[in-house]
Amino acid sequence: EKIRAAEQENGKTLFSFEYFPPKTAEGVENLFERMDRMVAHNPSFCDITWGAGGSTADLTLDIANRMQNMVCVETMMHLTCTNMPVEKIDHALDTIKSSGIQNVLALRGDPPHGQDKFVQVSGGFGCALDLVQHIRAKYGDYFGITVAGYPEAHPDMIKGEQGVTAEDYQNDLVYLKKKVDAGADIIITQLFYDTDIFLKFVNDCREIGISCPIVPGIMPINNYKGFLRMTGFCKTKIPPEVTAALEPIKDNEEAVKAYGIHLGTEMCKKILAHGIKTLHLYTLNMEKSALGILMNLGLIEESKISRSLPWRRPTNVFRV
Ligand code: FAD
Repeated sequence: EKIRAAEQENGKTLFSFEYFPPKTAEGVENLFERMDRMVAHNPSFCDITWGAGGSTADLTLDIANRMQNMVCVETMMHLTCTNMPVEKIDHALDTIKSSGIQNVLALRGDPPHGQDKFVQVSGGFGCALDLVQHIRAKYGDYFGITVAGYPEAHPDMIKGEQGVTAEDYQNDLVYLKKKVDAGADIIITQLFYDTDIFLKFVNDCREIGISCPIVPGIMPINNYKGFLRMTGFCKTKIPPEVTAALEPIKDNEEAVKAYGIHLGTEMCKKILAHGIKTLHLYTLNMEKSALGILMNLGLIEESKISRSLPWRRPTNVFRV
């Protein structure tokens, strides 16, 4: 089935989990064990990422098939379109179609590791808009299409010291609208830690006529170094209070995780209070932070969470 956001269902709050393909066979099996436990909490869908340029193509296709047909969760596969010939893109789409998967996150992709720029292969695509147009032209309405949105504008828009200008931000929104007008059904956002920026982005999208669901992408802070790497790479603004809270505990992994759950919970509470009813969790293939946030929000039942998870022990609970 095609995935739906809670806003389209007029129903209860929905949530989803994102995973990436592990590097080893053992990692893949661990991921499926974890996914089984997490799917018991009824996410509306789960998604698996695609290595830019098709670097994880076979593994992503295999994991997507297993998710849909063995874990039995509605699955969305990410698909990037640069550095890849169109035949490879069609092969991926045909393969998931034959696995019964109806959901694609259509992306441009970042340049392959070690390269600054991506290469548009001859006859290939240059941006996600091209991919959305291609999927609709070739596969009609078979696929539900999701696209990426950037509450702080895409980092490509950042020009030196000046950062993102109001004009660049507006151009980014106009481009996002083109992706939606070309056939995208849902937007999932890049990670952010300043909830006000996300809420403003939603308003700005509505103002230029983007009416589809806009789902916040929430990345719980699991680890201090990982958090700095991710926010540095994505040029994410870190609110001063987050820096202030992390600084004294940065070497204590359990305390960082507990703070990550606390922060994620507060962010989601505020988002839900503004009438948004669908949450997307970047799990980074870990379960405790994502489940901890959902439990705090009352969206999953505590009794269904494995007692072995360390953060359930009261000593690790973050208190303010
Ligand atoms: P696009 O939508 O094509 O464009 C990116 C930006 O470039 C736009 O925001 C716009 O500012 C500008 N731009 C491009 N074309 C035009 C145009 N014609 N006119 C004007 N402006 C234009 N990467 C992976 O490799 N694998 C993944 O699985 C993956 N999953 C992701 C999931 C989510 C939810 C998000 C937010 C990102 C993900 N990424 C993934 C990262 C993504 O590939 C990068 O952010 C990439 O740099 C941009 O991809 P995009 O689809 O947003 O690009």
